[in-house]
Amino acid sequence: MGFRGLLRTLLLSLPMLALSAYLLTRGVIPPDWPHRAALLLVFFFFNAAFIAMIHTGKTDRWRAPLFIAIAGLFAVSFMGNMLELNSRQGEFVDFIFRDSVPMCPVVIPMMLIPAAVGKTIIWPGAVAGTYAAAGLMFVIWLAASLGLGKAWCGWGCFFGGLDDAFSRLLPRALLGTPGWLRALPYAVLIVFALLTAASMMPAYCGLLCPVKAATELPPGDFVSDKLMLWVHLGMFGAFTAALPILTKRRVQCAFICPLGALQNGMDRLAPFKMRVDAARCTACGACAKNCPVLAIKPGTATPGSACVKCGRCADNCPAGAISFSVKGAVHSPGSGRLLFLYPAFLFMTGFGGGICVDAVARLITFGLTGRLF
Ligand code: SF4
Ligand code: SF4
Repeated sequence: MGFRGLLRTLLLSLPMLALSAYLLTRGVIPPDWPHRAALLLVFFFFNAAFIAMIHTGKTDRWRAPLFIAIAGLFAVSFMGNMLELNSRQGEFVDFIFRDSVPMCPVVIPMMLIPAAVGKTIIWPGAVAGTYAAAGLMFVIWLAASLGLGKAWCGWGCFFGGLDDAFSRLLPRALLGTPGWLRALPYAVLIVFALLTAASMMPAYCGLLCPVKAATELPPGDFVSDKLMLWVHLGMFGAFTAALPILTKRRVQCAFICPLGALQNGMDRLAPFKMRVDAARCTACGACAKNCPVLAIKPGTATPGSACVKCGRCADNCPAGAISFSVKGAVHSPGSGRLLFLYPAFLFMTGFGGGICVDAVARLITFGLTGRLF
């Protein structure tokens, strides 16, 4: 691909360069230089990955670094916010079930350092949120789900990069993943919806979720607090780290997360899907083997509604038989992919970019002052 190819890539990327600059700044340049430097770094990192996606034709190869970085930097940002809030409040919450706390084991990576350094597990109650915050999150989720469907789990969720990262560590799977696991998230969703209704408590968040977003639990006694801490640590270790490493699948996202089950339904409303050209497919099975969420049944080469549109199957199909497409439209692999990549990248940048800027600014500050805020 020569000069014409580069020019084409640049022209196709220009709209994203402009829009991502706006999404990252919201029209305001930060006054302090750590945030300015962070903004520049995040802008270049995100757009370099997007340009590489366009230029190479590989989607997952360049999506994954962004998705994983967002998950890692979310941990840094979250931890910095917790420390800052607690410092402002003048006290540290010393255990996880205290007042109205956001109960989320996804913050396990964030609490390890404060726990090791300060012998304190940080869960400030004031971050539990308000109706307005919850309402905004709902609107964002609904809009993204209607536009991108299950791609939320491959491009938006700032927890998903955790098991995505772990699932890539080994060159081949050491454990198989039986097909019945596809039904597990529905079972989790039904059981915990019933339990929640019966108890009027966020049962999944309190009892099972390895990567909870935010919830509240009433204070428990010391023994149950400690027990639940170890349950959540165990869930995180098993479903977000160990099993993804061994199976090379995103176990937490694909087989546990009840939101994932809901997204499977939302995917039917969204306009995008992965399309397999039956005339080209040689039935080699590479797509099913590489799919991190078991969205392709072996022997069928047909992605189902569990597909998170990561593009890994298309990247790895030796026959070039898989492409992004728009439902109901005349199929063109190049434009179908572009029509998907634009909104997916903008959603990723708008939803996760600010977190990355905050985290990188905190890391710069930490490097200079030894403090995350
Ligand atoms: S990887 Fe490509 S050629 Fe192989 S089964 Fe899947 S669609 Fe067919
Ligand atoms: S079917 Fe392809 S695009 Fe969909 S989740 Fe699996 S690997 Fe990713």
